[in-house]
Amino acid sequence: MSAAARHLSPLPPVERVRPGLWSVPVPIPSSSLRYVFVYVFETDAGPYIVDAGWNTDDAFAALSDGLSQAGTSVSDVQGVLVTHIHPDHYGLAGRVREASGAWVALHPADAALIPDRYDDPTDLLVRVSGYLRRMGAPAEEIEGLTNASMPVRPYVDAVRPDVLFDDGDHPRVPGWDLTALWTPGHSPGHLCFWEPSNRLMLSGDHVLPRITPNIPFHPQAGSNPLGDFLESLDRVATFDADEVLPAHEHRFVGLAGRVDELKAHHESRFAEVITAIEDGITTAWDIAARMRWSRQWDRIDGFMRRAAVGEAMSHLRALEVRGVIHEVVGEPSRFEIVDPA
Ligand SMILES: [Zn+2]
Ligand SMILES: [Zn+2]
Repeated sequence: MSAAARHLSPLPPVERVRPGLWSVPVPIPSSSLRYVFVYVFETDAGPYIVDAGWNTDDAFAALSDGLSQAGTSVSDVQGVLVTHIHPDHYGLAGRVREASGAWVALHPADAALIPDRYDDPTDLLVRVSGYLRRMGAPAEEIEGLTNASMPVRPYVDAVRPDVLFDDGDHPRVPGWDLTALWTPGHSPGHLCFWEPSNRLMLSGDHVLPRITPNIPFHPQAGSNPLGDFLESLDRVATFDADEVLPAHEHRFVGLAGRVDELKAHHESRFAEVITAIEDGITTAWDIAARMRWSRQWDRIDGFMRRAAVGEAMSHLRALEVRGVIHEVVGEPSRFEIVDPA
């Protein structure tokens, strides 16, 4: 589908996924993802939702409308289980809490990022520009790339969570036996939720049916986000899911097979990176410019460009942890193949 056609095509319908469980697509402004799925668990006490959407009037209206199609309302929501702090998942949680008194839950590793990311990002932006210099971004691009994520801030109501879910916790959702699974990588505190009676994996952005989630190296991402992500993929693949309920695209069958595809994708990325270094390309920026993307490098700009170089760098970091390459730290850092001898 072309970008234009995608933009015009309608959102998927509100659907009853299983008895007592609904999916509600909530629109995301100016994003090729177009919508995030909010999953709604019915209970005797009222609905509990997984993820919320961006903080816009359109999103709030779509969520409210979807909840009424599911026979309930936004003012009855009891809990908001947020998979991670990206704006399309967490941005609207505060407004839902305001309308309903629901609790909002996050993993502690994502909750910890809120002040620096959303309240006062001054210090974080300084660290981002330092990272960009380390990755070899050209001087004239540093300022623009440093500020590339600022336009999304209005779409986030930076509320503090009322509840924290650690790995293995069972969220209080009456009549359902959910388990929170900590799956760091796409975000340091990303959570999936396992629903055992229907054998459903609510996968957030961790496992999507077609696109590979961005795993960026970033000051808030930990030292080896791609290594974390690959371990988190192995973790979810141990669950024998009948169906996967992701936050974007569409529901799908075949969790273990999709995990294998994602792992194979990153292995081929590792090979690309190693070949580039062997060819004498040694900074993260130059390696990113040579990697294959869905469009030409010179047509990738702004936040997408920063995400791409962050993605190249996360591969470099994972290869360094594996002992394959070595970073000669500097501005920019240069990468070299570790001599096996
Ligand atoms: Zn995300
Ligand atoms: Zn998302």
